[in-house]
Parts: sequence; structure tokens; C-alpha cells
Amino acid sequence: MNRLPFLRLVSLTSPGIRVRINGVQKEVREEAKRKFMEFLERKDLRITNQRRVIIDTVFDTDEHFTAEQLLDWSRERDSSISRATVYRTLPLLTESNLVHEMDFGKPYKFYDPNYSDSPNHNHLICEDCEKIVEFDSEKIEEIEQEIGHNLGFTVKSQNLQLSATCNALKRSGACDNKPCN
Ligand SMILES: [Zn+2]
Ligand SMILES: [Zn+2]
Repeated sequence: MNRLPFLRLVSLTSPGIRVRINGVQKEVREEAKRKFMEFLERKDLRITNQRRVIIDTVFDTDEHFTAEQLLDWSRERDSSISRATVYRTLPLLTESNLVHEMDFGKPYKFYDPNYSDSPNHNHLICEDCEKIVEFDSEKIEEIEQEIGHNLGFTVKSQNLQLSATCNALKRSGACDNKPCN
């Protein structure tokens, strides 16, 4: 399994479970952006101003986002960004394998800009406010390898998605940061 060291994950309460709390280093994000530019060049795709703003926005964040969030964030930088350009750029980002598309059973997809940094990390999502937490666990990896081995498979990648309710929802019946889309 192509697992990168999770140096920026810090051990939580349970041994063997690491949650990303410090984000992805700027250099890692810059490197991913550089690779994406090369990918566009190989495809002979023109990098328009709009597209450059969208790409800068994607690789400046380590938060997971929806297409509409990316549109909002990009428009904060340049109000002329069109929805069509965002929706045309997203498939290129996922095709490059630098951004991963995730389906949490919502009417829209989420995009993970941390995929090139750690392709095998897992996600917890609050089904109400859609807060996403990334975590990694050697225990889970061991179990998956064991299941694969016992059934005669070689596990190549893993990506566990847990739908959950966050603490704010449990405490007060409402989450602080409800998504508006
Ligand atoms: Zn992630
Ligand atoms: Zn919540």
C-alpha cells in the first residue's frame, strides 16, 4: 500500500489513531499545484486567468470543499469567476489524481485537496454541519490487510468514510457551522 508517513498527524486520545490537526504544509500544497500545472501542460490546456484563480484557491486550502464552496472562495479573489469554469476545472483536478472526489451520500460531492499528501487517510463527517475530520489508524490498516489476506486479496488502497454526528449536535441539537448549500 502506498502510504505516506503522516508526520503532521498528532496522536489523539486512543493509541494508534492520528487526526490531522496541523493541516498540510505549504510546500506540499505548492508541489501539488506545480504537478497540476504540468498535467494541464501535458494536456495542452490553456491556463486562463479564471482557471489560475481557481487552481490557486484549491491548492491554498487543506479543507475539503464542494463545487459551490470552491466557487464562493474563488469569487472572493475574483468576482468574475464563472460557475461553468469551476465545474469544468474540477474533473481535471480529479483526473490528475491530486484532488480526490468523495461521495458522502449528499446531493453534491466533496473534494479533498489533501489526497496527494496522504492518499489513504480516512474521513469522519458530521451528517448535519458537514464538518470533516481526517484520521489515520494503523489498527484499521491491519484489519483491512488481514481481511484482504484471508479472502485472498491484496489490498491496494483504503479509504474509510464514517457518517456521524458532531459533539455540538449531540450537546445542543444544532451545529455551529451549518452549510448554506
Ligand atoms: Zn481528506
Ligand atoms: Zn455537526
